[in-house]
Amino acid sequence: MTKHFRPHDDAFPVAEDAPLPLVAIVGRPNVGKSTLFNRLARRKLAIVHDEPGVTRDRHYATTTAFGTAYAIVDTGGFDPESDDPMKAGIADHVRAAIKEADVVVFLSDGSSPVIDADRVAVDLLRRSKKPVLYVANKADSPRADAEAFDLYRLGVDEVFPISSLHGRGIGELEAAIIERLPKEPPREPEEDGEKLLRVAIVGRPNAGKSSFLNRVLGEARMLVDDRPGTTRDAIDALVTHDGKKYVFIDTAGIRRKSKVTKAEDAVEALGVLSAIRSIERAHVVVVMCDVSEGVSEQDAKILGLAHDRARAMIIVLNKSDLIRDKKALAKAEEHARDKLAFASYAPIVPMSVKSGRGVAELFRTIDEVRTGYFHRATTGELNRFFEQVLDTRPPPTMGSRAPRLYFITQTSVAPPTFVAMSNAPESIHFSYQRYVQNQLRKRFGFVGSPVRVFYRQKRGRGEEKRVRPSRRPENTRTKG
Ligand code: GDP
Ligand code: GDP
Repeated sequence: MTKHFRPHDDAFPVAEDAPLPLVAIVGRPNVGKSTLFNRLARRKLAIVHDEPGVTRDRHYATTTAFGTAYAIVDTGGFDPESDDPMKAGIADHVRAAIKEADVVVFLSDGSSPVIDADRVAVDLLRRSKKPVLYVANKADSPRADAEAFDLYRLGVDEVFPISSLHGRGIGELEAAIIERLPKEPPREPEEDGEKLLRVAIVGRPNAGKSSFLNRVLGEARMLVDDRPGTTRDAIDALVTHDGKKYVFIDTAGIRRKSKVTKAEDAVEALGVLSAIRSIERAHVVVVMCDVSEGVSEQDAKILGLAHDRARAMIIVLNKSDLIRDKKALAKAEEHARDKLAFASYAPIVPMSVKSGRGVAELFRTIDEVRTGYFHRATTGELNRFFEQVLDTRPPPTMGSRAPRLYFITQTSVAPPTFVAMSNAPESIHFSYQRYVQNQLRKRFGFVGSPVRVFYRQKRGRGEEKRVRPSRRPENTRTKG
């Protein structure tokens, strides 16, 4: 799917959804960031909430332009209404975007004069080494371009006048984005030619992420990517535990206590941005929650991002030492399960970094999850599985169609992905698709891994028609 990063390595196959470059949209409120986001993500403006009751992060999407895939984030607006713009969080906001993104799109409202907040943001962006595109939105007609060029007065070299609402100038902007994306994929850590498992520790501030790393990094070797153009801050750590190797991603970023603004939502937007960066690079995402605080909306959001990117995942309930007794801990687990029901396959590990309880269990769970994520079922195993599934429950007739399944095959690992051939893929009911998925899980384990099954039309030889996969079974989220 992505052309960005697809090395062929049978020994340790790389995730099909390998890291995508990240494009961040920054700007003050109401300039049209979310309209542009939807336009680039090719989403309908009226977003249909197909997953009832769930606040999904609609500010993050993967998309393509001219055949190149990338991830796009609307960072939320910075607050322009402060006496001292530097304190308004603009600086933090813009710096976070510069730090995490490969390309920054600065958006202003071309139909109204440039204001101080724009000036502050542009000053910071011009000094950064990251590629930045300066875009004046709401230039709905060529006549409006003159006003849009107001942005030149801030000293930028090139301004893109666009209309997010009407689609004007979007093609040019997309071409410019693609042109500025990194030409080379990020170098991923390996040793003796073998790719290493990459683990991201994500979660809200104070969940205990840096305490955990301090505990396990004792003997760690730091891996610094010092090629030109890479952020030296992104320091991964190679940890050997029980003779096995794990790379913990961006440990410096976690341990460097960020002094972010007090504005709650700003902290959240920026926290999510750095989580996105880590999730892109990870095989296994560990979402660390503070069990004494309970699982938060942001925890759910981050887990949702990992789920959408088809990463393996583990939920850690840290600070279990603060929980009175076993019964209370079981209750907390149950609550977490409810809240994160959309990823019911993700194991929950109670842990206390403070006492050390559960740390070994987390490493065991990472091993188990890794095994599932990279598992390749043999043809024999799959055939036997498939026969049994059909014997127990063949696909039900839909209307006048009697869908048949011919065979199932595993097309990739990380995550385990299957293709089932049918005479009528459209007629295989959603509930049956879910059934097949659950059976695969039951048979092969896949603890903590998303499992994808694509249904494809079988016709004459060499004549196959692709059918959109049903991602719904695992995307169905229920509110806890
Ligand atoms: P955000 O707060 O920066 O995310 O801004 P929104 O995307 O919510 O847009 C703010 C308002 O500007 C909405 O009423 C949009 O319909 C409007 N808007 C966005 N893009 C354009 C545009 O290109 N032209 C015009 N005329 N209005 C726009
Ligand atoms: P981070 O922001 O996620 O990196 O969180 P920190 O590692 O800085 O931890 C935040 C606070 O929680 C610190 O005061 C830690 O000492 C404390 N903390 C971390 N883990 C535990 C734990 O297992 N039990 C208790 N009681 N406190 C913890």
